[in-house]
Amino acid sequence: MNSISNDISRLQKLNSLFEESNKAAKIGVWEVDLINDTVFWSSTTKKIHGVSDDYTPNIKEAFDFIKKDENQDRLIALFNEAIKNGKAYETDVKLIKKDGSELWTKAKGTTEFKDNKCIRIYGTFQDIQEQKDREAALIKAQNELAEIAGKFKGIFNSAFQFIGFLTPDGTLTEANESAISFAGLTPEDVIGKKFWDCHWWKISKATQEELKKNIERAAKGEFIQYEVEILGKEGATTTILFNLKPLKNDNNEVYSIIPEGRLIQDIVDTRKELINKNNELSQFSTIVSHDLKEPLRMINQFMQKIDLKYAGSLDDKARKYIYYAVDGAKRMSKMIDELLNYSKLTEKDKIIELVHTNSLVYEILKGSEQLILEKNITVEKTDLPDINGNITGIKVLFNNLINNAIKYADPSKLAFIKISCISHPAEWEFCIEDNGIGIDPENHQKIFDLFYKINKYQDENSSGIGLAICKKIVSLHKGNIWVESDLGTGSKFYFTIKKSIHA
Ligand code: ADP
Repeated sequence: MNSISNDISRLQKLNSLFEESNKAAKIGVWEVDLINDTVFWSSTTKKIHGVSDDYTPNIKEAFDFIKKDENQDRLIALFNEAIKNGKAYETDVKLIKKDGSELWTKAKGTTEFKDNKCIRIYGTFQDIQEQKDREAALIKAQNELAEIAGKFKGIFNSAFQFIGFLTPDGTLTEANESAISFAGLTPEDVIGKKFWDCHWWKISKATQEELKKNIERAAKGEFIQYEVEILGKEGATTTILFNLKPLKNDNNEVYSIIPEGRLIQDIVDTRKELINKNNELSQFSTIVSHDLKEPLRMINQFMQKIDLKYAGSLDDKARKYIYYAVDGAKRMSKMIDELLNYSKLTEKDKIIELVHTNSLVYEILKGSEQLILEKNITVEKTDLPDINGNITGIKVLFNNLINNAIKYADPSKLAFIKISCISHPAEWEFCIEDNGIGIDPENHQKIFDLFYKINKYQDENSSGIGLAICKKIVSLHKGNIWVESDLGTGSKFYFTIKKSIHA
């Protein structure tokens, strides 16, 4: 007797342990007794359905809890099939709980047969909502990731640049469509190969060797950039600006290298052409000025000789003509010198240093003091900055603009000149203002052209080259020059100089 009661209490304990663990796993038990037509739900099953502990289900109501769509149809079909053929089932179905909320469950069913007739069907309901939520979140994340990856792949392939990925030992793992189609290749031709053995680099052994060495340097963490000629389709070649960018992990180790190339053949060609043109031009102007000055010297000499030798027999008119001829020759000689100076202004002799524009402008004004006094011009100057520039160029620039302001003062007015500067984030903006004769807007562009003078018969100090020189100096300093003016209202000449400029 004692042992039976022991067994019963052990069974009860086991049972409650079973129910506890089921509760933790959110698994509820159910049973349908087909003989007595009764339904049993464990308390966890009732919780899963959102009904109270005293609820007694029947078959119809039990199925009513399943979402009335393919979920319900599927479960009823499996249930009926099990009763008929004894086939156990397991399926995920959506429940509609008593409060109307939806819950994903895993429904399992097994049968018991007697005399070929199903007398009992039983199984479990498991709350698998968390698992379903996790799965849905994972699918969402995967989709988002696939979308981002797709976008990146799109950018990667549609970029004009040639881009790829290398392992640190130089194996090409990816190359974009631009790079592959440029050389008329397929991915199979290059992916998985050592980069320097790929078609693009087979232009010469030296090019391949250079790349190999540069990849070794990039693998050690160095960023490499150089211009190189590569091989395209059918033996065509082109120059690219090529770089190798190492990608490093948190331990500062290079795990990948991005090779990237941009087509710069046009730039290279234009640069070459420009260098040639520049060389030609500087040779041309040196030769021209030298060759032109020789006959001018002769005109001068012989005119003076005529003047001396035939002084007695020349009348005033003849002497005037000689004077004009000598004067014309002098002016031409001056123009040639200025042309030479202009052509000598090149990027390559540009030394950049700190220029104290305050003292530089002061010196220029001092040099023109006599004229300023004669013309009774009031000069105003704000405090000017120290800038980075080529001192000789900046001096010529201020000198030409200030002297023009003096030269083109309006004699009918009380003349003034104002020199000022304002600071912008990346550049200085200077202004030389006068209340002189002014410039018709239709000439605002032309006055910066070589030898352009508004009035062809202006005074002899006028050669029409001063502003062209100013423009060239400003452009060598990566700045701009322009004028705001109108006839009779004076002029404001502006120019900008970059704050940070390299030689
Ligand atoms: P130049 O003064 O030797 O003729 P520039 O190149 O310095 O040559 O100037 C070109 C022309 O622009 C001048 O001939 C003149 O007509 C006009 N100009 C330049 N500066 C001024 C100014 N401050 N006021 C009025 N006209 C000017």
